[in-house]
Amino acid sequence: MKIGRYAGVTDTGRRRTRNEDALVVRPPLFAVADGMGGARAGEIAARLAAEALASARADVAGEDGVAALIEEANRRIWERSLADPATAGMGTTVTAALVDAAGGTVSFGHVGDSRAYRLRDGVLEQLSTDHSLVAELVESGVLTPEEAEHHPQRSAITRALGTDPAVEVAGFTVDAQLGDLFLLCSDGLSAMLGDDAIAEAIESAGRDPRAAGEALVAAANARGGEDNITVVLFELVEGDPESPPPPPANEPSHEPVTATLPEPATDVHTHGAGPGGRITSLALVAAVLVLGLLGLYWGISR
Ligand code: MG
Repeated sequence: MKIGRYAGVTDTGRRRTRNEDALVVRPPLFAVADGMGGARAGEIAARLAAEALASARADVAGEDGVAALIEEANRRIWERSLADPATAGMGTTVTAALVDAAGGTVSFGHVGDSRAYRLRDGVLEQLSTDHSLVAELVESGVLTPEEAEHHPQRSAITRALGTDPAVEVAGFTVDAQLGDLFLLCSDGLSAMLGDDAIAEAIESAGRDPRAAGEALVAAANARGGEDNITVVLFELVEGDPESPPPPPANEPSHEPVTATLPEPATDVHTHGAGPGGRITSLALVAAVLVLGLLGLYWGISR
């Protein structure tokens, strides 16, 4: 087994003026990051995360190796935010995948609500668990999954990279089979498209990573494109795991691999979730109480 075709596509979407997502396409390592913070800080945080991952040594291995990369990325973002007050509170999600083609596994590390999926035999399976307010409310039975999809706080994350000196990385390893296709994405895709629509777009594109990536971005934009949309896809095919994977099928059609993204200018605008995008455990409890009170008020006022 070896890595076959792969592609990364990122798009600003239809509502935002800037793209604060970043991606890494450096087989056997792939990642997406979704930045948050004002004054372009989210863009900086996501780019720092992508650069830290892209600079990984060739011998990095396993979920512990991925977690160590993400922890290093966290340190770099945290230290930058201390050194540059304009970026205080900036953070980013990250979801990274490291393929061990010889071992037939893929190891993941993730923080936040960017997701990892595996498409096998036409069935899409979400591999990661969101670190988000609504995911926790669903887990604790406060919200149904359907309510979570439409909840106004659905983009609030409970864990972010760069907002604290240390971060807890969720790591896991899954088996890979010939023909598996893996997808990493920011919430600009998963908030717009359900699992069935994602699987359908990939299958309709003939499972070609580049065409599928373009189709997913187009579908998310067709449903509103309310956020930046980033997708990274790679497939596992028959072959010698030691042989290098092929070059990307086409040049990236939107933005290049993040490690080569230009340094952002320093103009001051505020976009995205801002520093408040991260919710602490205390705030989570408060949010549950407020939801309860709102429900009570709603009940009384009717
Ligand atoms: Mg987003």
